[in-house]
Amino acid sequence: MSIQEELKTIHKNHLYRTLRPIDSAQDALIQSNGKSLLNFSSNNYLGLANDPRLKSAAIEAIELYGTGSGASRLITGSMSLHHQLEEKLAQFKGTTSALVFNSGYHANLSVISALMREGDVIYSDELNHASIIDGCRLSRAQVKVYRHSELTHLEEILRETAPAQSGIRRLIVTDSIFSMDGDRAPLAELARLAEHYDCWLMVDEAHATGVIGPSGKGLVEEVWPNQRPAYLQERLIQMGTLGKALGSFGAYVAGSQELVEFLINRARPFIYTTALPPSVLAASFKAIEIVEQEPERRERLWENVREFLKSSRYFQKSLGESWELSPILPLIIGDSQKTLKLSQHLFEKGFWVGAIRYPTVPPKTERLRITLMATHTKDQIRQLMENLNELL
Ligand SMILES: *Cc1c(COP(=O)(O)O)cnc(C)c1O
Repeated sequence: MSIQEELKTIHKNHLYRTLRPIDSAQDALIQSNGKSLLNFSSNNYLGLANDPRLKSAAIEAIELYGTGSGASRLITGSMSLHHQLEEKLAQFKGTTSALVFNSGYHANLSVISALMREGDVIYSDELNHASIIDGCRLSRAQVKVYRHSELTHLEEILRETAPAQSGIRRLIVTDSIFSMDGDRAPLAELARLAEHYDCWLMVDEAHATGVIGPSGKGLVEEVWPNQRPAYLQERLIQMGTLGKALGSFGAYVAGSQELVEFLINRARPFIYTTALPPSVLAASFKAIEIVEQEPERRERLWENVREFLKSSRYFQKSLGESWELSPILPLIIGDSQKTLKLSQHLFEKGFWVGAIRYPTVPPKTERLRITLMATHTKDQIRQLMENLNELL
């Protein structure tokens, strides 16, 4: 098939994607092509992406250290700003060490492809992020996919596969807050299975960092606010991004010192890429300080989520009773064309709500993915709700 034919097929299936430029900063209110829109699609959950303090930190870092890092970390690109950010991240996450990556995509490719080798086994939730899936592929390990958050299914596969003989590594990997569904992984139970079946446990906190947990450290903090099970000291890998709630760019892996040493020596997407620049590192550092010092930002986000749910019986019902608060609110439509139409209709009314289609989500689960921010006003949320109620 030629690429022209392939493009036609994409069009025919209502799966064609385009890029729409935004002319303003990333905020609750954005400008696109002269049109003002309320942004309900961003992962900038705390509204930090345009915070004056992050901007000043970035500008100051540019004045002192310039715009580029000039080389990969292992050549001459490892600046003191990287090391300071890594110390901060380790302290924030309660681990011995942390390592910064150029993006969450890089971090997932790095960890999984470095740790897991041919002959090893990865147990992966079926709704895990694409970067986890690609990391699994790159590793050449055997991949066993378990049904979404289904522990009995996972345990079945764990029993079926060969026990961790000497030399064979096993890894259970999961999103902590699922990116397109907003629900939470059953972490405590996954940790028990990891221990029982001698597996590493890797948790992708991309949507939980800065948001979930008593002080915004992620789902790991929510589940184990004080002491984590001893088994996890060596075998838990916490990954998260700095580009979503933290309003900056890049990602981290937090864990044991040996894990970080190992990644520096083995992770190709870490080794063979130019290091993050000073501005980005300084903005990330400032963002973590703000997350630590301003719990009221998280509180405002949760107030907005409660406000949203209060005004929609539809969502209360479709999300179910076991649903715990999250800023990601999926509205499942189940058809690409319909989902696109709804998204376009909302766009015309002044709301930016993305149409999420295959392959980001499985076929027949196409959806509008609504995300809330701490900086939305109650009135803005009510406006969205009124328009949604009219459409549904
Ligand atoms: C966004 C996301 C990533 C990738 O992070 P980036 O920093 O955007 O590359 C990884 N995992 C999950 C679950 C995500 O949602």
